Amino acid sequence: MSFASQARGEIAHVECVGACCARSELCAALLSSGGISYHGPEKYRLSLTSSDATVVRRYFTLAKRFYDVTGELRVVKTPQFSGTTRYRLLLPQDQSLRLLKEMKLLDPDGLFGLRNKPSSRLFSRDCCRAAFLRGAFLFSGTVTNPEKDYHMEFSVSDRVFAETLLEILNKFEICAKIACRKEKEVVYLKGSESISDVLTILGAHQCVLEMENIRITKDLRNQVNRQMNCDNSNINRSMLTAERQIADIRYIDEEIGLDKLPKTLREIAEVRVANPETSLSGIGEMLTPSLGKSGVNSRLRRLTEIANRLRSGEEIE
Ligand SMILES: [Zn+2]
Repeated sequence: MSFASQARGEIAHVECVGACCARSELCAALLSSGGISYHGPEKYRLSLTSSDATVVRRYFTLAKRFYDVTGELRVVKTPQFSGTTRYRLLLPQDQSLRLLKEMKLLDPDGLFGLRNKPSSRLFSRDCCRAAFLRGAFLFSGTVTNPEKDYHMEFSVSDRVFAETLLEILNKFEICAKIACRKEKEVVYLKGSESISDVLTILGAHQCVLEMENIRITKDLRNQVNRQMNCDNSNINRSMLTAERQIADIRYIDEEIGLDKLPKTLREIAEVRVANPETSLSGIGEMLTPSLGKSGVNSRLRRLTEIANRLRSGEEIE
């Protein structure tokens, strides 16, 4: 199961606590699923359609419990939905007008007698704001698997509705943006913290926990990778230095012969060439008497200096 359907499943089972919240949630659901059809003055038919049966059943129960309205559940399979099965809740036509009034969606001056901006009275309280987001998410929201990316979005067909969602998210101090994509208005947010906050508001606590676990594992993995890259680059650096030192020693040997070097330098040159992968302190231990890391370093530097002087044509006594 995808992370998005897991979230939807969890949210679809969150209890709707009060009539105020039921009204906001149903309103958002209808605006999200485009389920208001107009058949001449005063005749409306409300419907909710989703590919998720659990989501549709939630609103069947909600309409029954809070408005005493018994809807009709249908399975729809049409080419319009590219052959996939959809579930639809049809609310009785004689009750639809009453429900629209309840949801404060009627406006005699509006197109088809409807408001295009939901009344702010529907989300004057935090509980109702959360309920509104829940209704919108269940029909038009999705969240990417946090293993892959931190992305959550509400994809709706109406700009005004998108702006309302943005406004509500802002009230919860959550930063979101709107983008226009394929004739859809997409309200989206990024960042594990914001997404986790929205999932908490929606009531998907199980998903929040799972996301947190994934985030911790990801952080740990990144930390280990960074450490390994750092170790690797240190090893690479030491190996490059050793290679250069050996090249210098070989050059001296070819030009003047190692036996021309003072005894201490000759000894370290031979040990270095014989042990190309040994660290500086390891080299120091192989000398008699043994020598510390900085002593080894300074003798090797002297060898490099000699090689450079030879390269520039200087005579070495
Ligand atoms: Zn409420």
